[in-house]
Amino acid sequence: GDARTVTGPAQQALPGVKHIIAVASGKGGVGKSTFAVNLACALDRVLTESGRKRRVGLMDCDIYGPSTPLMMGVSRQPEIQGEMLIPVENFNVRVMSMGLLVDEHTPVVWRGPMIMKTIQQFAANVEWGELDFLIVDLPPGTGDAQLSLVQTLPLRGAIIVTTPQAAAVNVARRGAMMFGKVNVPLIGVAENMSYLEGADGARQYIFGQGGGRRTAQALETDFLGEVPLDPLLREGSDLGIPIVISDPQRPASQAFMKIAERL
Ligand code: ADP
Repeated sequence: GDARTVTGPAQQALPGVKHIIAVASGKGGVGKSTFAVNLACALDRVLTESGRKRRVGLMDCDIYGPSTPLMMGVSRQPEIQGEMLIPVENFNVRVMSMGLLVDEHTPVVWRGPMIMKTIQQFAANVEWGELDFLIVDLPPGTGDAQLSLVQTLPLRGAIIVTTPQAAAVNVARRGAMMFGKVNVPLIGVAENMSYLEGADGARQYIFGQGGGRRTAQALETDFLGEVPLDPLLREGSDLGIPIVISDPQRPASQAFMKIAERL
């Protein structure tokens, strides 16, 4: 749909962007960034196939461990035009990340206070251009930083990424409550690392089963789908070529495409 919820002072921000969607998780390590990167690439494929010309953007707000540049294969510093930063583009996706602006030696104590400023600048001082979707990769967790962050962006809604594990499910629930507090609608819950499929097609449920669906039910939101465990998914991330790009027929890629088609 086209419904947009304006939640904060930045209502005028990003007039050229149709849908701003946050990707969140209760805790780190569930594959939130992997999900955000592949979803962005999948959205571009869906849009390209349907003949639309606008782009997809990816705003990496995970300033403590910005892994998006590595996963998207971008490393060069963004160009500056006047007061505006030009996103770095790869695979048709426009990327902005703290990882492109500071090196890994920047002390972490500087980063905390930088969060809000960074997000505001990523919204106001980045030349995103005309986008159909801007995917916002939030820092993991459900604290104040995430809360104030989502309030500054006119979000259409948030996707919660979880693994099937109960622990991840509980934190995902807390994350969802955080969005409720600031009236950001939930788009749905996506489950990552759902199972590992052998060559014979047999599935192993390494982290248990059904956690994503249960979370979606408990939160009265949609279950968006399951992304399987896949060594090639991790390899693609490490090589800077998302699996959706390198191997679109792979079941994991198909899972991302299906989720993208629902948005
Ligand atoms: P988060 O952003 O939640 O901290 P990441 O996206 O950085 O998590 O993923 C953590 C690690 O797990 C990375 O090495 C990533 O390549 C790997 N990973 C994520 N999802 C999958 C998957 N479905 N199959 C295999 N490896 C995955």
